[in-house]
Amino acid sequence: MSDLSGKVALVTGANRGIGAEIALGLARRGAIVAINYRGDDSGARAVLAMLAAEGDTSNHAAFKGDVSDSASCQQLVDEVVTHYGRIDVVVNNAGITRDGLLVRMSDDDWNAVITTNLSGAFFITRAAAKYMMKQRSGSIVNISSVVGLVGNAGQANYSAAKAGLIGLTKSVARELASRNVRVNAIAPGFIETDMTAELPEAARAAALGSIAMKRFGSPADVAAAVAFLASDDAAYVTGQVLAVDGGMTFA
Ligand code: NDP
Repeated sequence: MSDLSGKVALVTGANRGIGAEIALGLARRGAIVAINYRGDDSGARAVLAMLAAEGDTSNHAAFKGDVSDSASCQQLVDEVVTHYGRIDVVVNNAGITRDGLLVRMSDDDWNAVITTNLSGAFFITRAAAKYMMKQRSGSIVNISSVVGLVGNAGQANYSAAKAGLIGLTKSVARELASRNVRVNAIAPGFIETDMTAELPEAARAAALGSIAMKRFGSPADVAAAVAFLASDDAAYVTGQVLAVDGGMTFA
């Protein structure tokens, strides 16, 4: 298990779903976790309570912030650094879907998904990079998606944002490598969360048929990969996209 002892990690959208499991996974490996939430403070509190119930006495805390808002992202990162004195790991996890076929997709649905899923990661990364560059260390993990690699009918907005995250990952990895700040992406396949629970049964069956391992992924599958990339075990890994998809996309 990767050791994250003493590292301060900010996870966006960590009040539920994959983000909550990432926060738990990082904490269980020794990290001090800043749990970002947009409005659902009960979800964030539940994650903190779960860690406390496991006997974890680290100084984990919840931080409110909307990743679709540039000023809110700057404030969020500043608050985390003020609270802990440093920031070692950032996981850009927060994301939304507004699915629809291209010809029926509204400007609002396009803009909301691009702003939250892509600009949000940019706002957070820009704010955190300034601190990490000064520290001469850091690891940023962007939660992309297999649809950012291969596309998906009905998800032009979401796929574009997730593909954009891969470009952001590779470009920022090049910019920050000399300061020992690593930037990687994870491309999850079909993971069982609220986001995928909304899909019709036919879409779930079609997805299952395309997975070589013949099972959907769990948030814990994604969390384990994040922990590796966040840790010093991945000290020589940057600019990479790791698919966590049970064999959905390999060539
Ligand atoms: P969920 O819908 O279950 O959770 C999304 C999380 O993002 C929630 O905590 C939500 O907060 C938060 N969030 C949304 N908008 C904002 C915002 N503006 N500011 C802060 N937080 C926000 O999704 P998943 O857990 O399934 O997905 C997590 C990430 O993984 C997403 O980026 C998603 O695109 C990606 N992913 C998921 C896959 C899957 O199969 N589930 C596959 C590939 C990628 P709130 O509770 O307030 O809504």
